[in-house]
Amino acid sequence: MADKKPVVSIVIPVYNEELNLKDLIARCIAAGDKMPWSYELLLVDDGSSDRSAEMIAAAVKENEGKIIGVILSTNFGQHAAVTAGLSKSRGKYIVTLDADLQNPPEEIHKLVEKLAEGYDVVGSIRENRQDTFFRKIASKTVNLMVRRLTRGKTMTDYGCMLRGYSRPVVNAILDCHEQGKFIPMLAMSFARKSTEVMVKHAERAAGESKYSVWKLIALQYDLLTGTSTFPLRVLTILGFLVALLGVCFGIFIFILTRINDAEWGRYGVFTMFSLLFIVLGVQFAGMGLLGEYIGKIHLNARGRPQYYIEKTLRGNTIEEQNEE
Ligand code: UDP
Ligand code: MG
Repeated sequence: MADKKPVVSIVIPVYNEELNLKDLIARCIAAGDKMPWSYELLLVDDGSSDRSAEMIAAAVKENEGKIIGVILSTNFGQHAAVTAGLSKSRGKYIVTLDADLQNPPEEIHKLVEKLAEGYDVVGSIRENRQDTFFRKIASKTVNLMVRRLTRGKTMTDYGCMLRGYSRPVVNAILDCHEQGKFIPMLAMSFARKSTEVMVKHAERAAGESKYSVWKLIALQYDLLTGTSTFPLRVLTILGFLVALLGVCFGIFIFILTRINDAEWGRYGVFTMFSLLFIVLGVQFAGMGLLGEYIGKIHLNARGRPQYYIEKTLRGNTIEEQNEE
């Protein structure tokens, strides 16, 4: 393998895509050869049970130097597979896309152009998206959630995996050792300058989507619990509200029975209710609070880097990231 580092790395996760691989590789190579930059194509086999791994191995032999195969031992999921690919990539600009040809490889150069202009995260918006209704809804909620979670740094379409990253951002992502990474969002949290381009979107060329409804729900839940303690805070606030309601109710009963001498208030049944509310509310609040502490432990445990240095300026020299 030539030791010269390519400028562009294209990373593609592959899971049981034997029907798409041939086309995918041919189109990627054709698109890559047209680009003015040197490139490498990283195909990550995510523990496929079909012939994907062998096909990748064969393609690596046929296209020496251009294709790199990364074979994972078993199925780790799309984002883990992409991360594995990123860890083996050497390019200055990195582009990820799906293997099912929903993202046309012919669009890769658009993203690289933006990266070369100095953007460090380039998203893509799918022109007339070809997906089922449910998929669209699912990705709408993901988009909304992520937008909330990344505060201000917005991207229109988080679901589209055709994305470009600069080397420093990729290194930052690789430095995050948490489970269940959602790469587009992680990237966004390290980005300094991001932009988006419009890209074409096609139907899955062959085979079936690897995401079942259940997997999609799991992904959203993962995203929520992995990135924020917001749900816990809701619990705490709810708890305090219920307790407050209990107190108000108590005062209300007190006034009615003492001042108006209401008959129904005498036997203490309603007073019990008000006490119950207070105890219940305090319990909820306490649970939420406890959760916040656990959340803090969780944040520390995943050990995300707190900052990331893009380059260091020293006298007349600039030390770029990852100049091995
Ligand atoms: N994928 C993977 N591991 C998995 C599931 C999917 O590497 O466990 C890959 C898959 O081969 C494809 C990409 O992730 O390249 C997106 O998968 P898919 O097209 O099934 O998802 P959808 O487009 O339906 O969101
Ligand atoms: Mg797809």
